[in-house]
Amino acid sequence: MKKMIWLTIAGFILGLGNLSTVLAQQETPVPAQPAVQGEGQPPTETPKPELSERDRDEVEYGKKIVEQVLKEYKIIDDPALNERVNRIGQILAEIARNTPTEAHWGESGSPPFEYSFKIIDDKDVNAFSIPGGFIFVHKGLLDFVNSDHELAGVLAHEIAHAAHRHVMTLVREDGKVSRQVMLPVLLGALLGRVPANDTMTLLAGTQLYRIAKMNSFGQEAETDSDLTAMEYLKKSPYSAVGLLTFMERLAVEERRKPQIDWGIYRTHPPSKERVGALRKGLQEANIPIRRREISPSLRVVARPESEEDANSVYEVYYDGIQIFKPATDSKQRAEQMASRLNTLLDDGIEMFEVRISSDGTAVLVKGEELARITDSDSVYYGKSPQEITAQIRESIRRLLWSDTVRLLY
Ligand SMILES: [Zn+2]
Repeated sequence: MKKMIWLTIAGFILGLGNLSTVLAQQETPVPAQPAVQGEGQPPTETPKPELSERDRDEVEYGKKIVEQVLKEYKIIDDPALNERVNRIGQILAEIARNTPTEAHWGESGSPPFEYSFKIIDDKDVNAFSIPGGFIFVHKGLLDFVNSDHELAGVLAHEIAHAAHRHVMTLVREDGKVSRQVMLPVLLGALLGRVPANDTMTLLAGTQLYRIAKMNSFGQEAETDSDLTAMEYLKKSPYSAVGLLTFMERLAVEERRKPQIDWGIYRTHPPSKERVGALRKGLQEANIPIRRREISPSLRVVARPESEEDANSVYEVYYDGIQIFKPATDSKQRAEQMASRLNTLLDDGIEMFEVRISSDGTAVLVKGEELARITDSDSVYYGKSPQEITAQIRESIRRLLWSDTVRLLY
């Protein structure tokens, strides 16, 4: 992996001589100079908000990277997908422009960038942000998110990287690495398809320069983006919990795919600290962590046991676990149980809080009756009520266990 990155970077350094020269000239900022060699660029492009000279310089720098990204990747123009990403993205962009936030890492503030959102035809669950507010989302990420809340979480996070100028901070901070060296390095890292999170991808090349310092760097930028994203999301129609459920689910995926070679990131697991910081941030902001309202795949559902049979009984079901099938009033009872269980799960249930009533005919969670077994249920199952309640308790414990494992890192 490391070797591959180096090769990619070398390729870019060799291939970008021309561009490097252009950037070398821009090192002493030429005020408001429009993009050089703008063959494919619309000449009428005038940003709506008042950008400072520095902002414009940053946007121009970003455009150079974007040009290369567009050469490497195919952009998806599907109207429905783009409508979704832009609708959510622009709501958040507007909030970001009007919400000066304090940076834990990077630069505080709310630069008035015109944020843009494009979808890359690629199956990776990935997104990245380029200085100046150019945000790219891979198609794989759109397939992976469970709700608009989760997508909003990701987009807010990417906006925060640009708003707090994370990449530019690094470029400026590191006097040893000049811009003309940085650009090919950034590109090489970006296009080398390193399976890491977004800034880590962008900064992979830089990491090669300063491995010693990097361990905390990537983490700080990511955490800053997460916390800043929360600030934006709080003002939006979307729940900040979406960012948390997205990352928790992503962490599970990463665990399920041990073949991912983290290469130089092996010492830098992507999610544990971030998820911890996000949970803490949500708690401090008094935002209840109701995962099941945000992420439908985490919900206990009531559904017909058989899709084909219209008269089929309903089952209460969660991720491979059948919890209960009420024999009569099946739909109504199953839905009621699923709904109660979701609320209880979001509030947090301990194993010992799942109990059986003293007569053995009801399952109680935190003292609340979750299911009562009727005679018809007994007949249907061919079991005593006590056997059925024991079975339900066991299923709920399995559910809790799988939930616990899911959230462990
Ligand atoms: Zn990030």
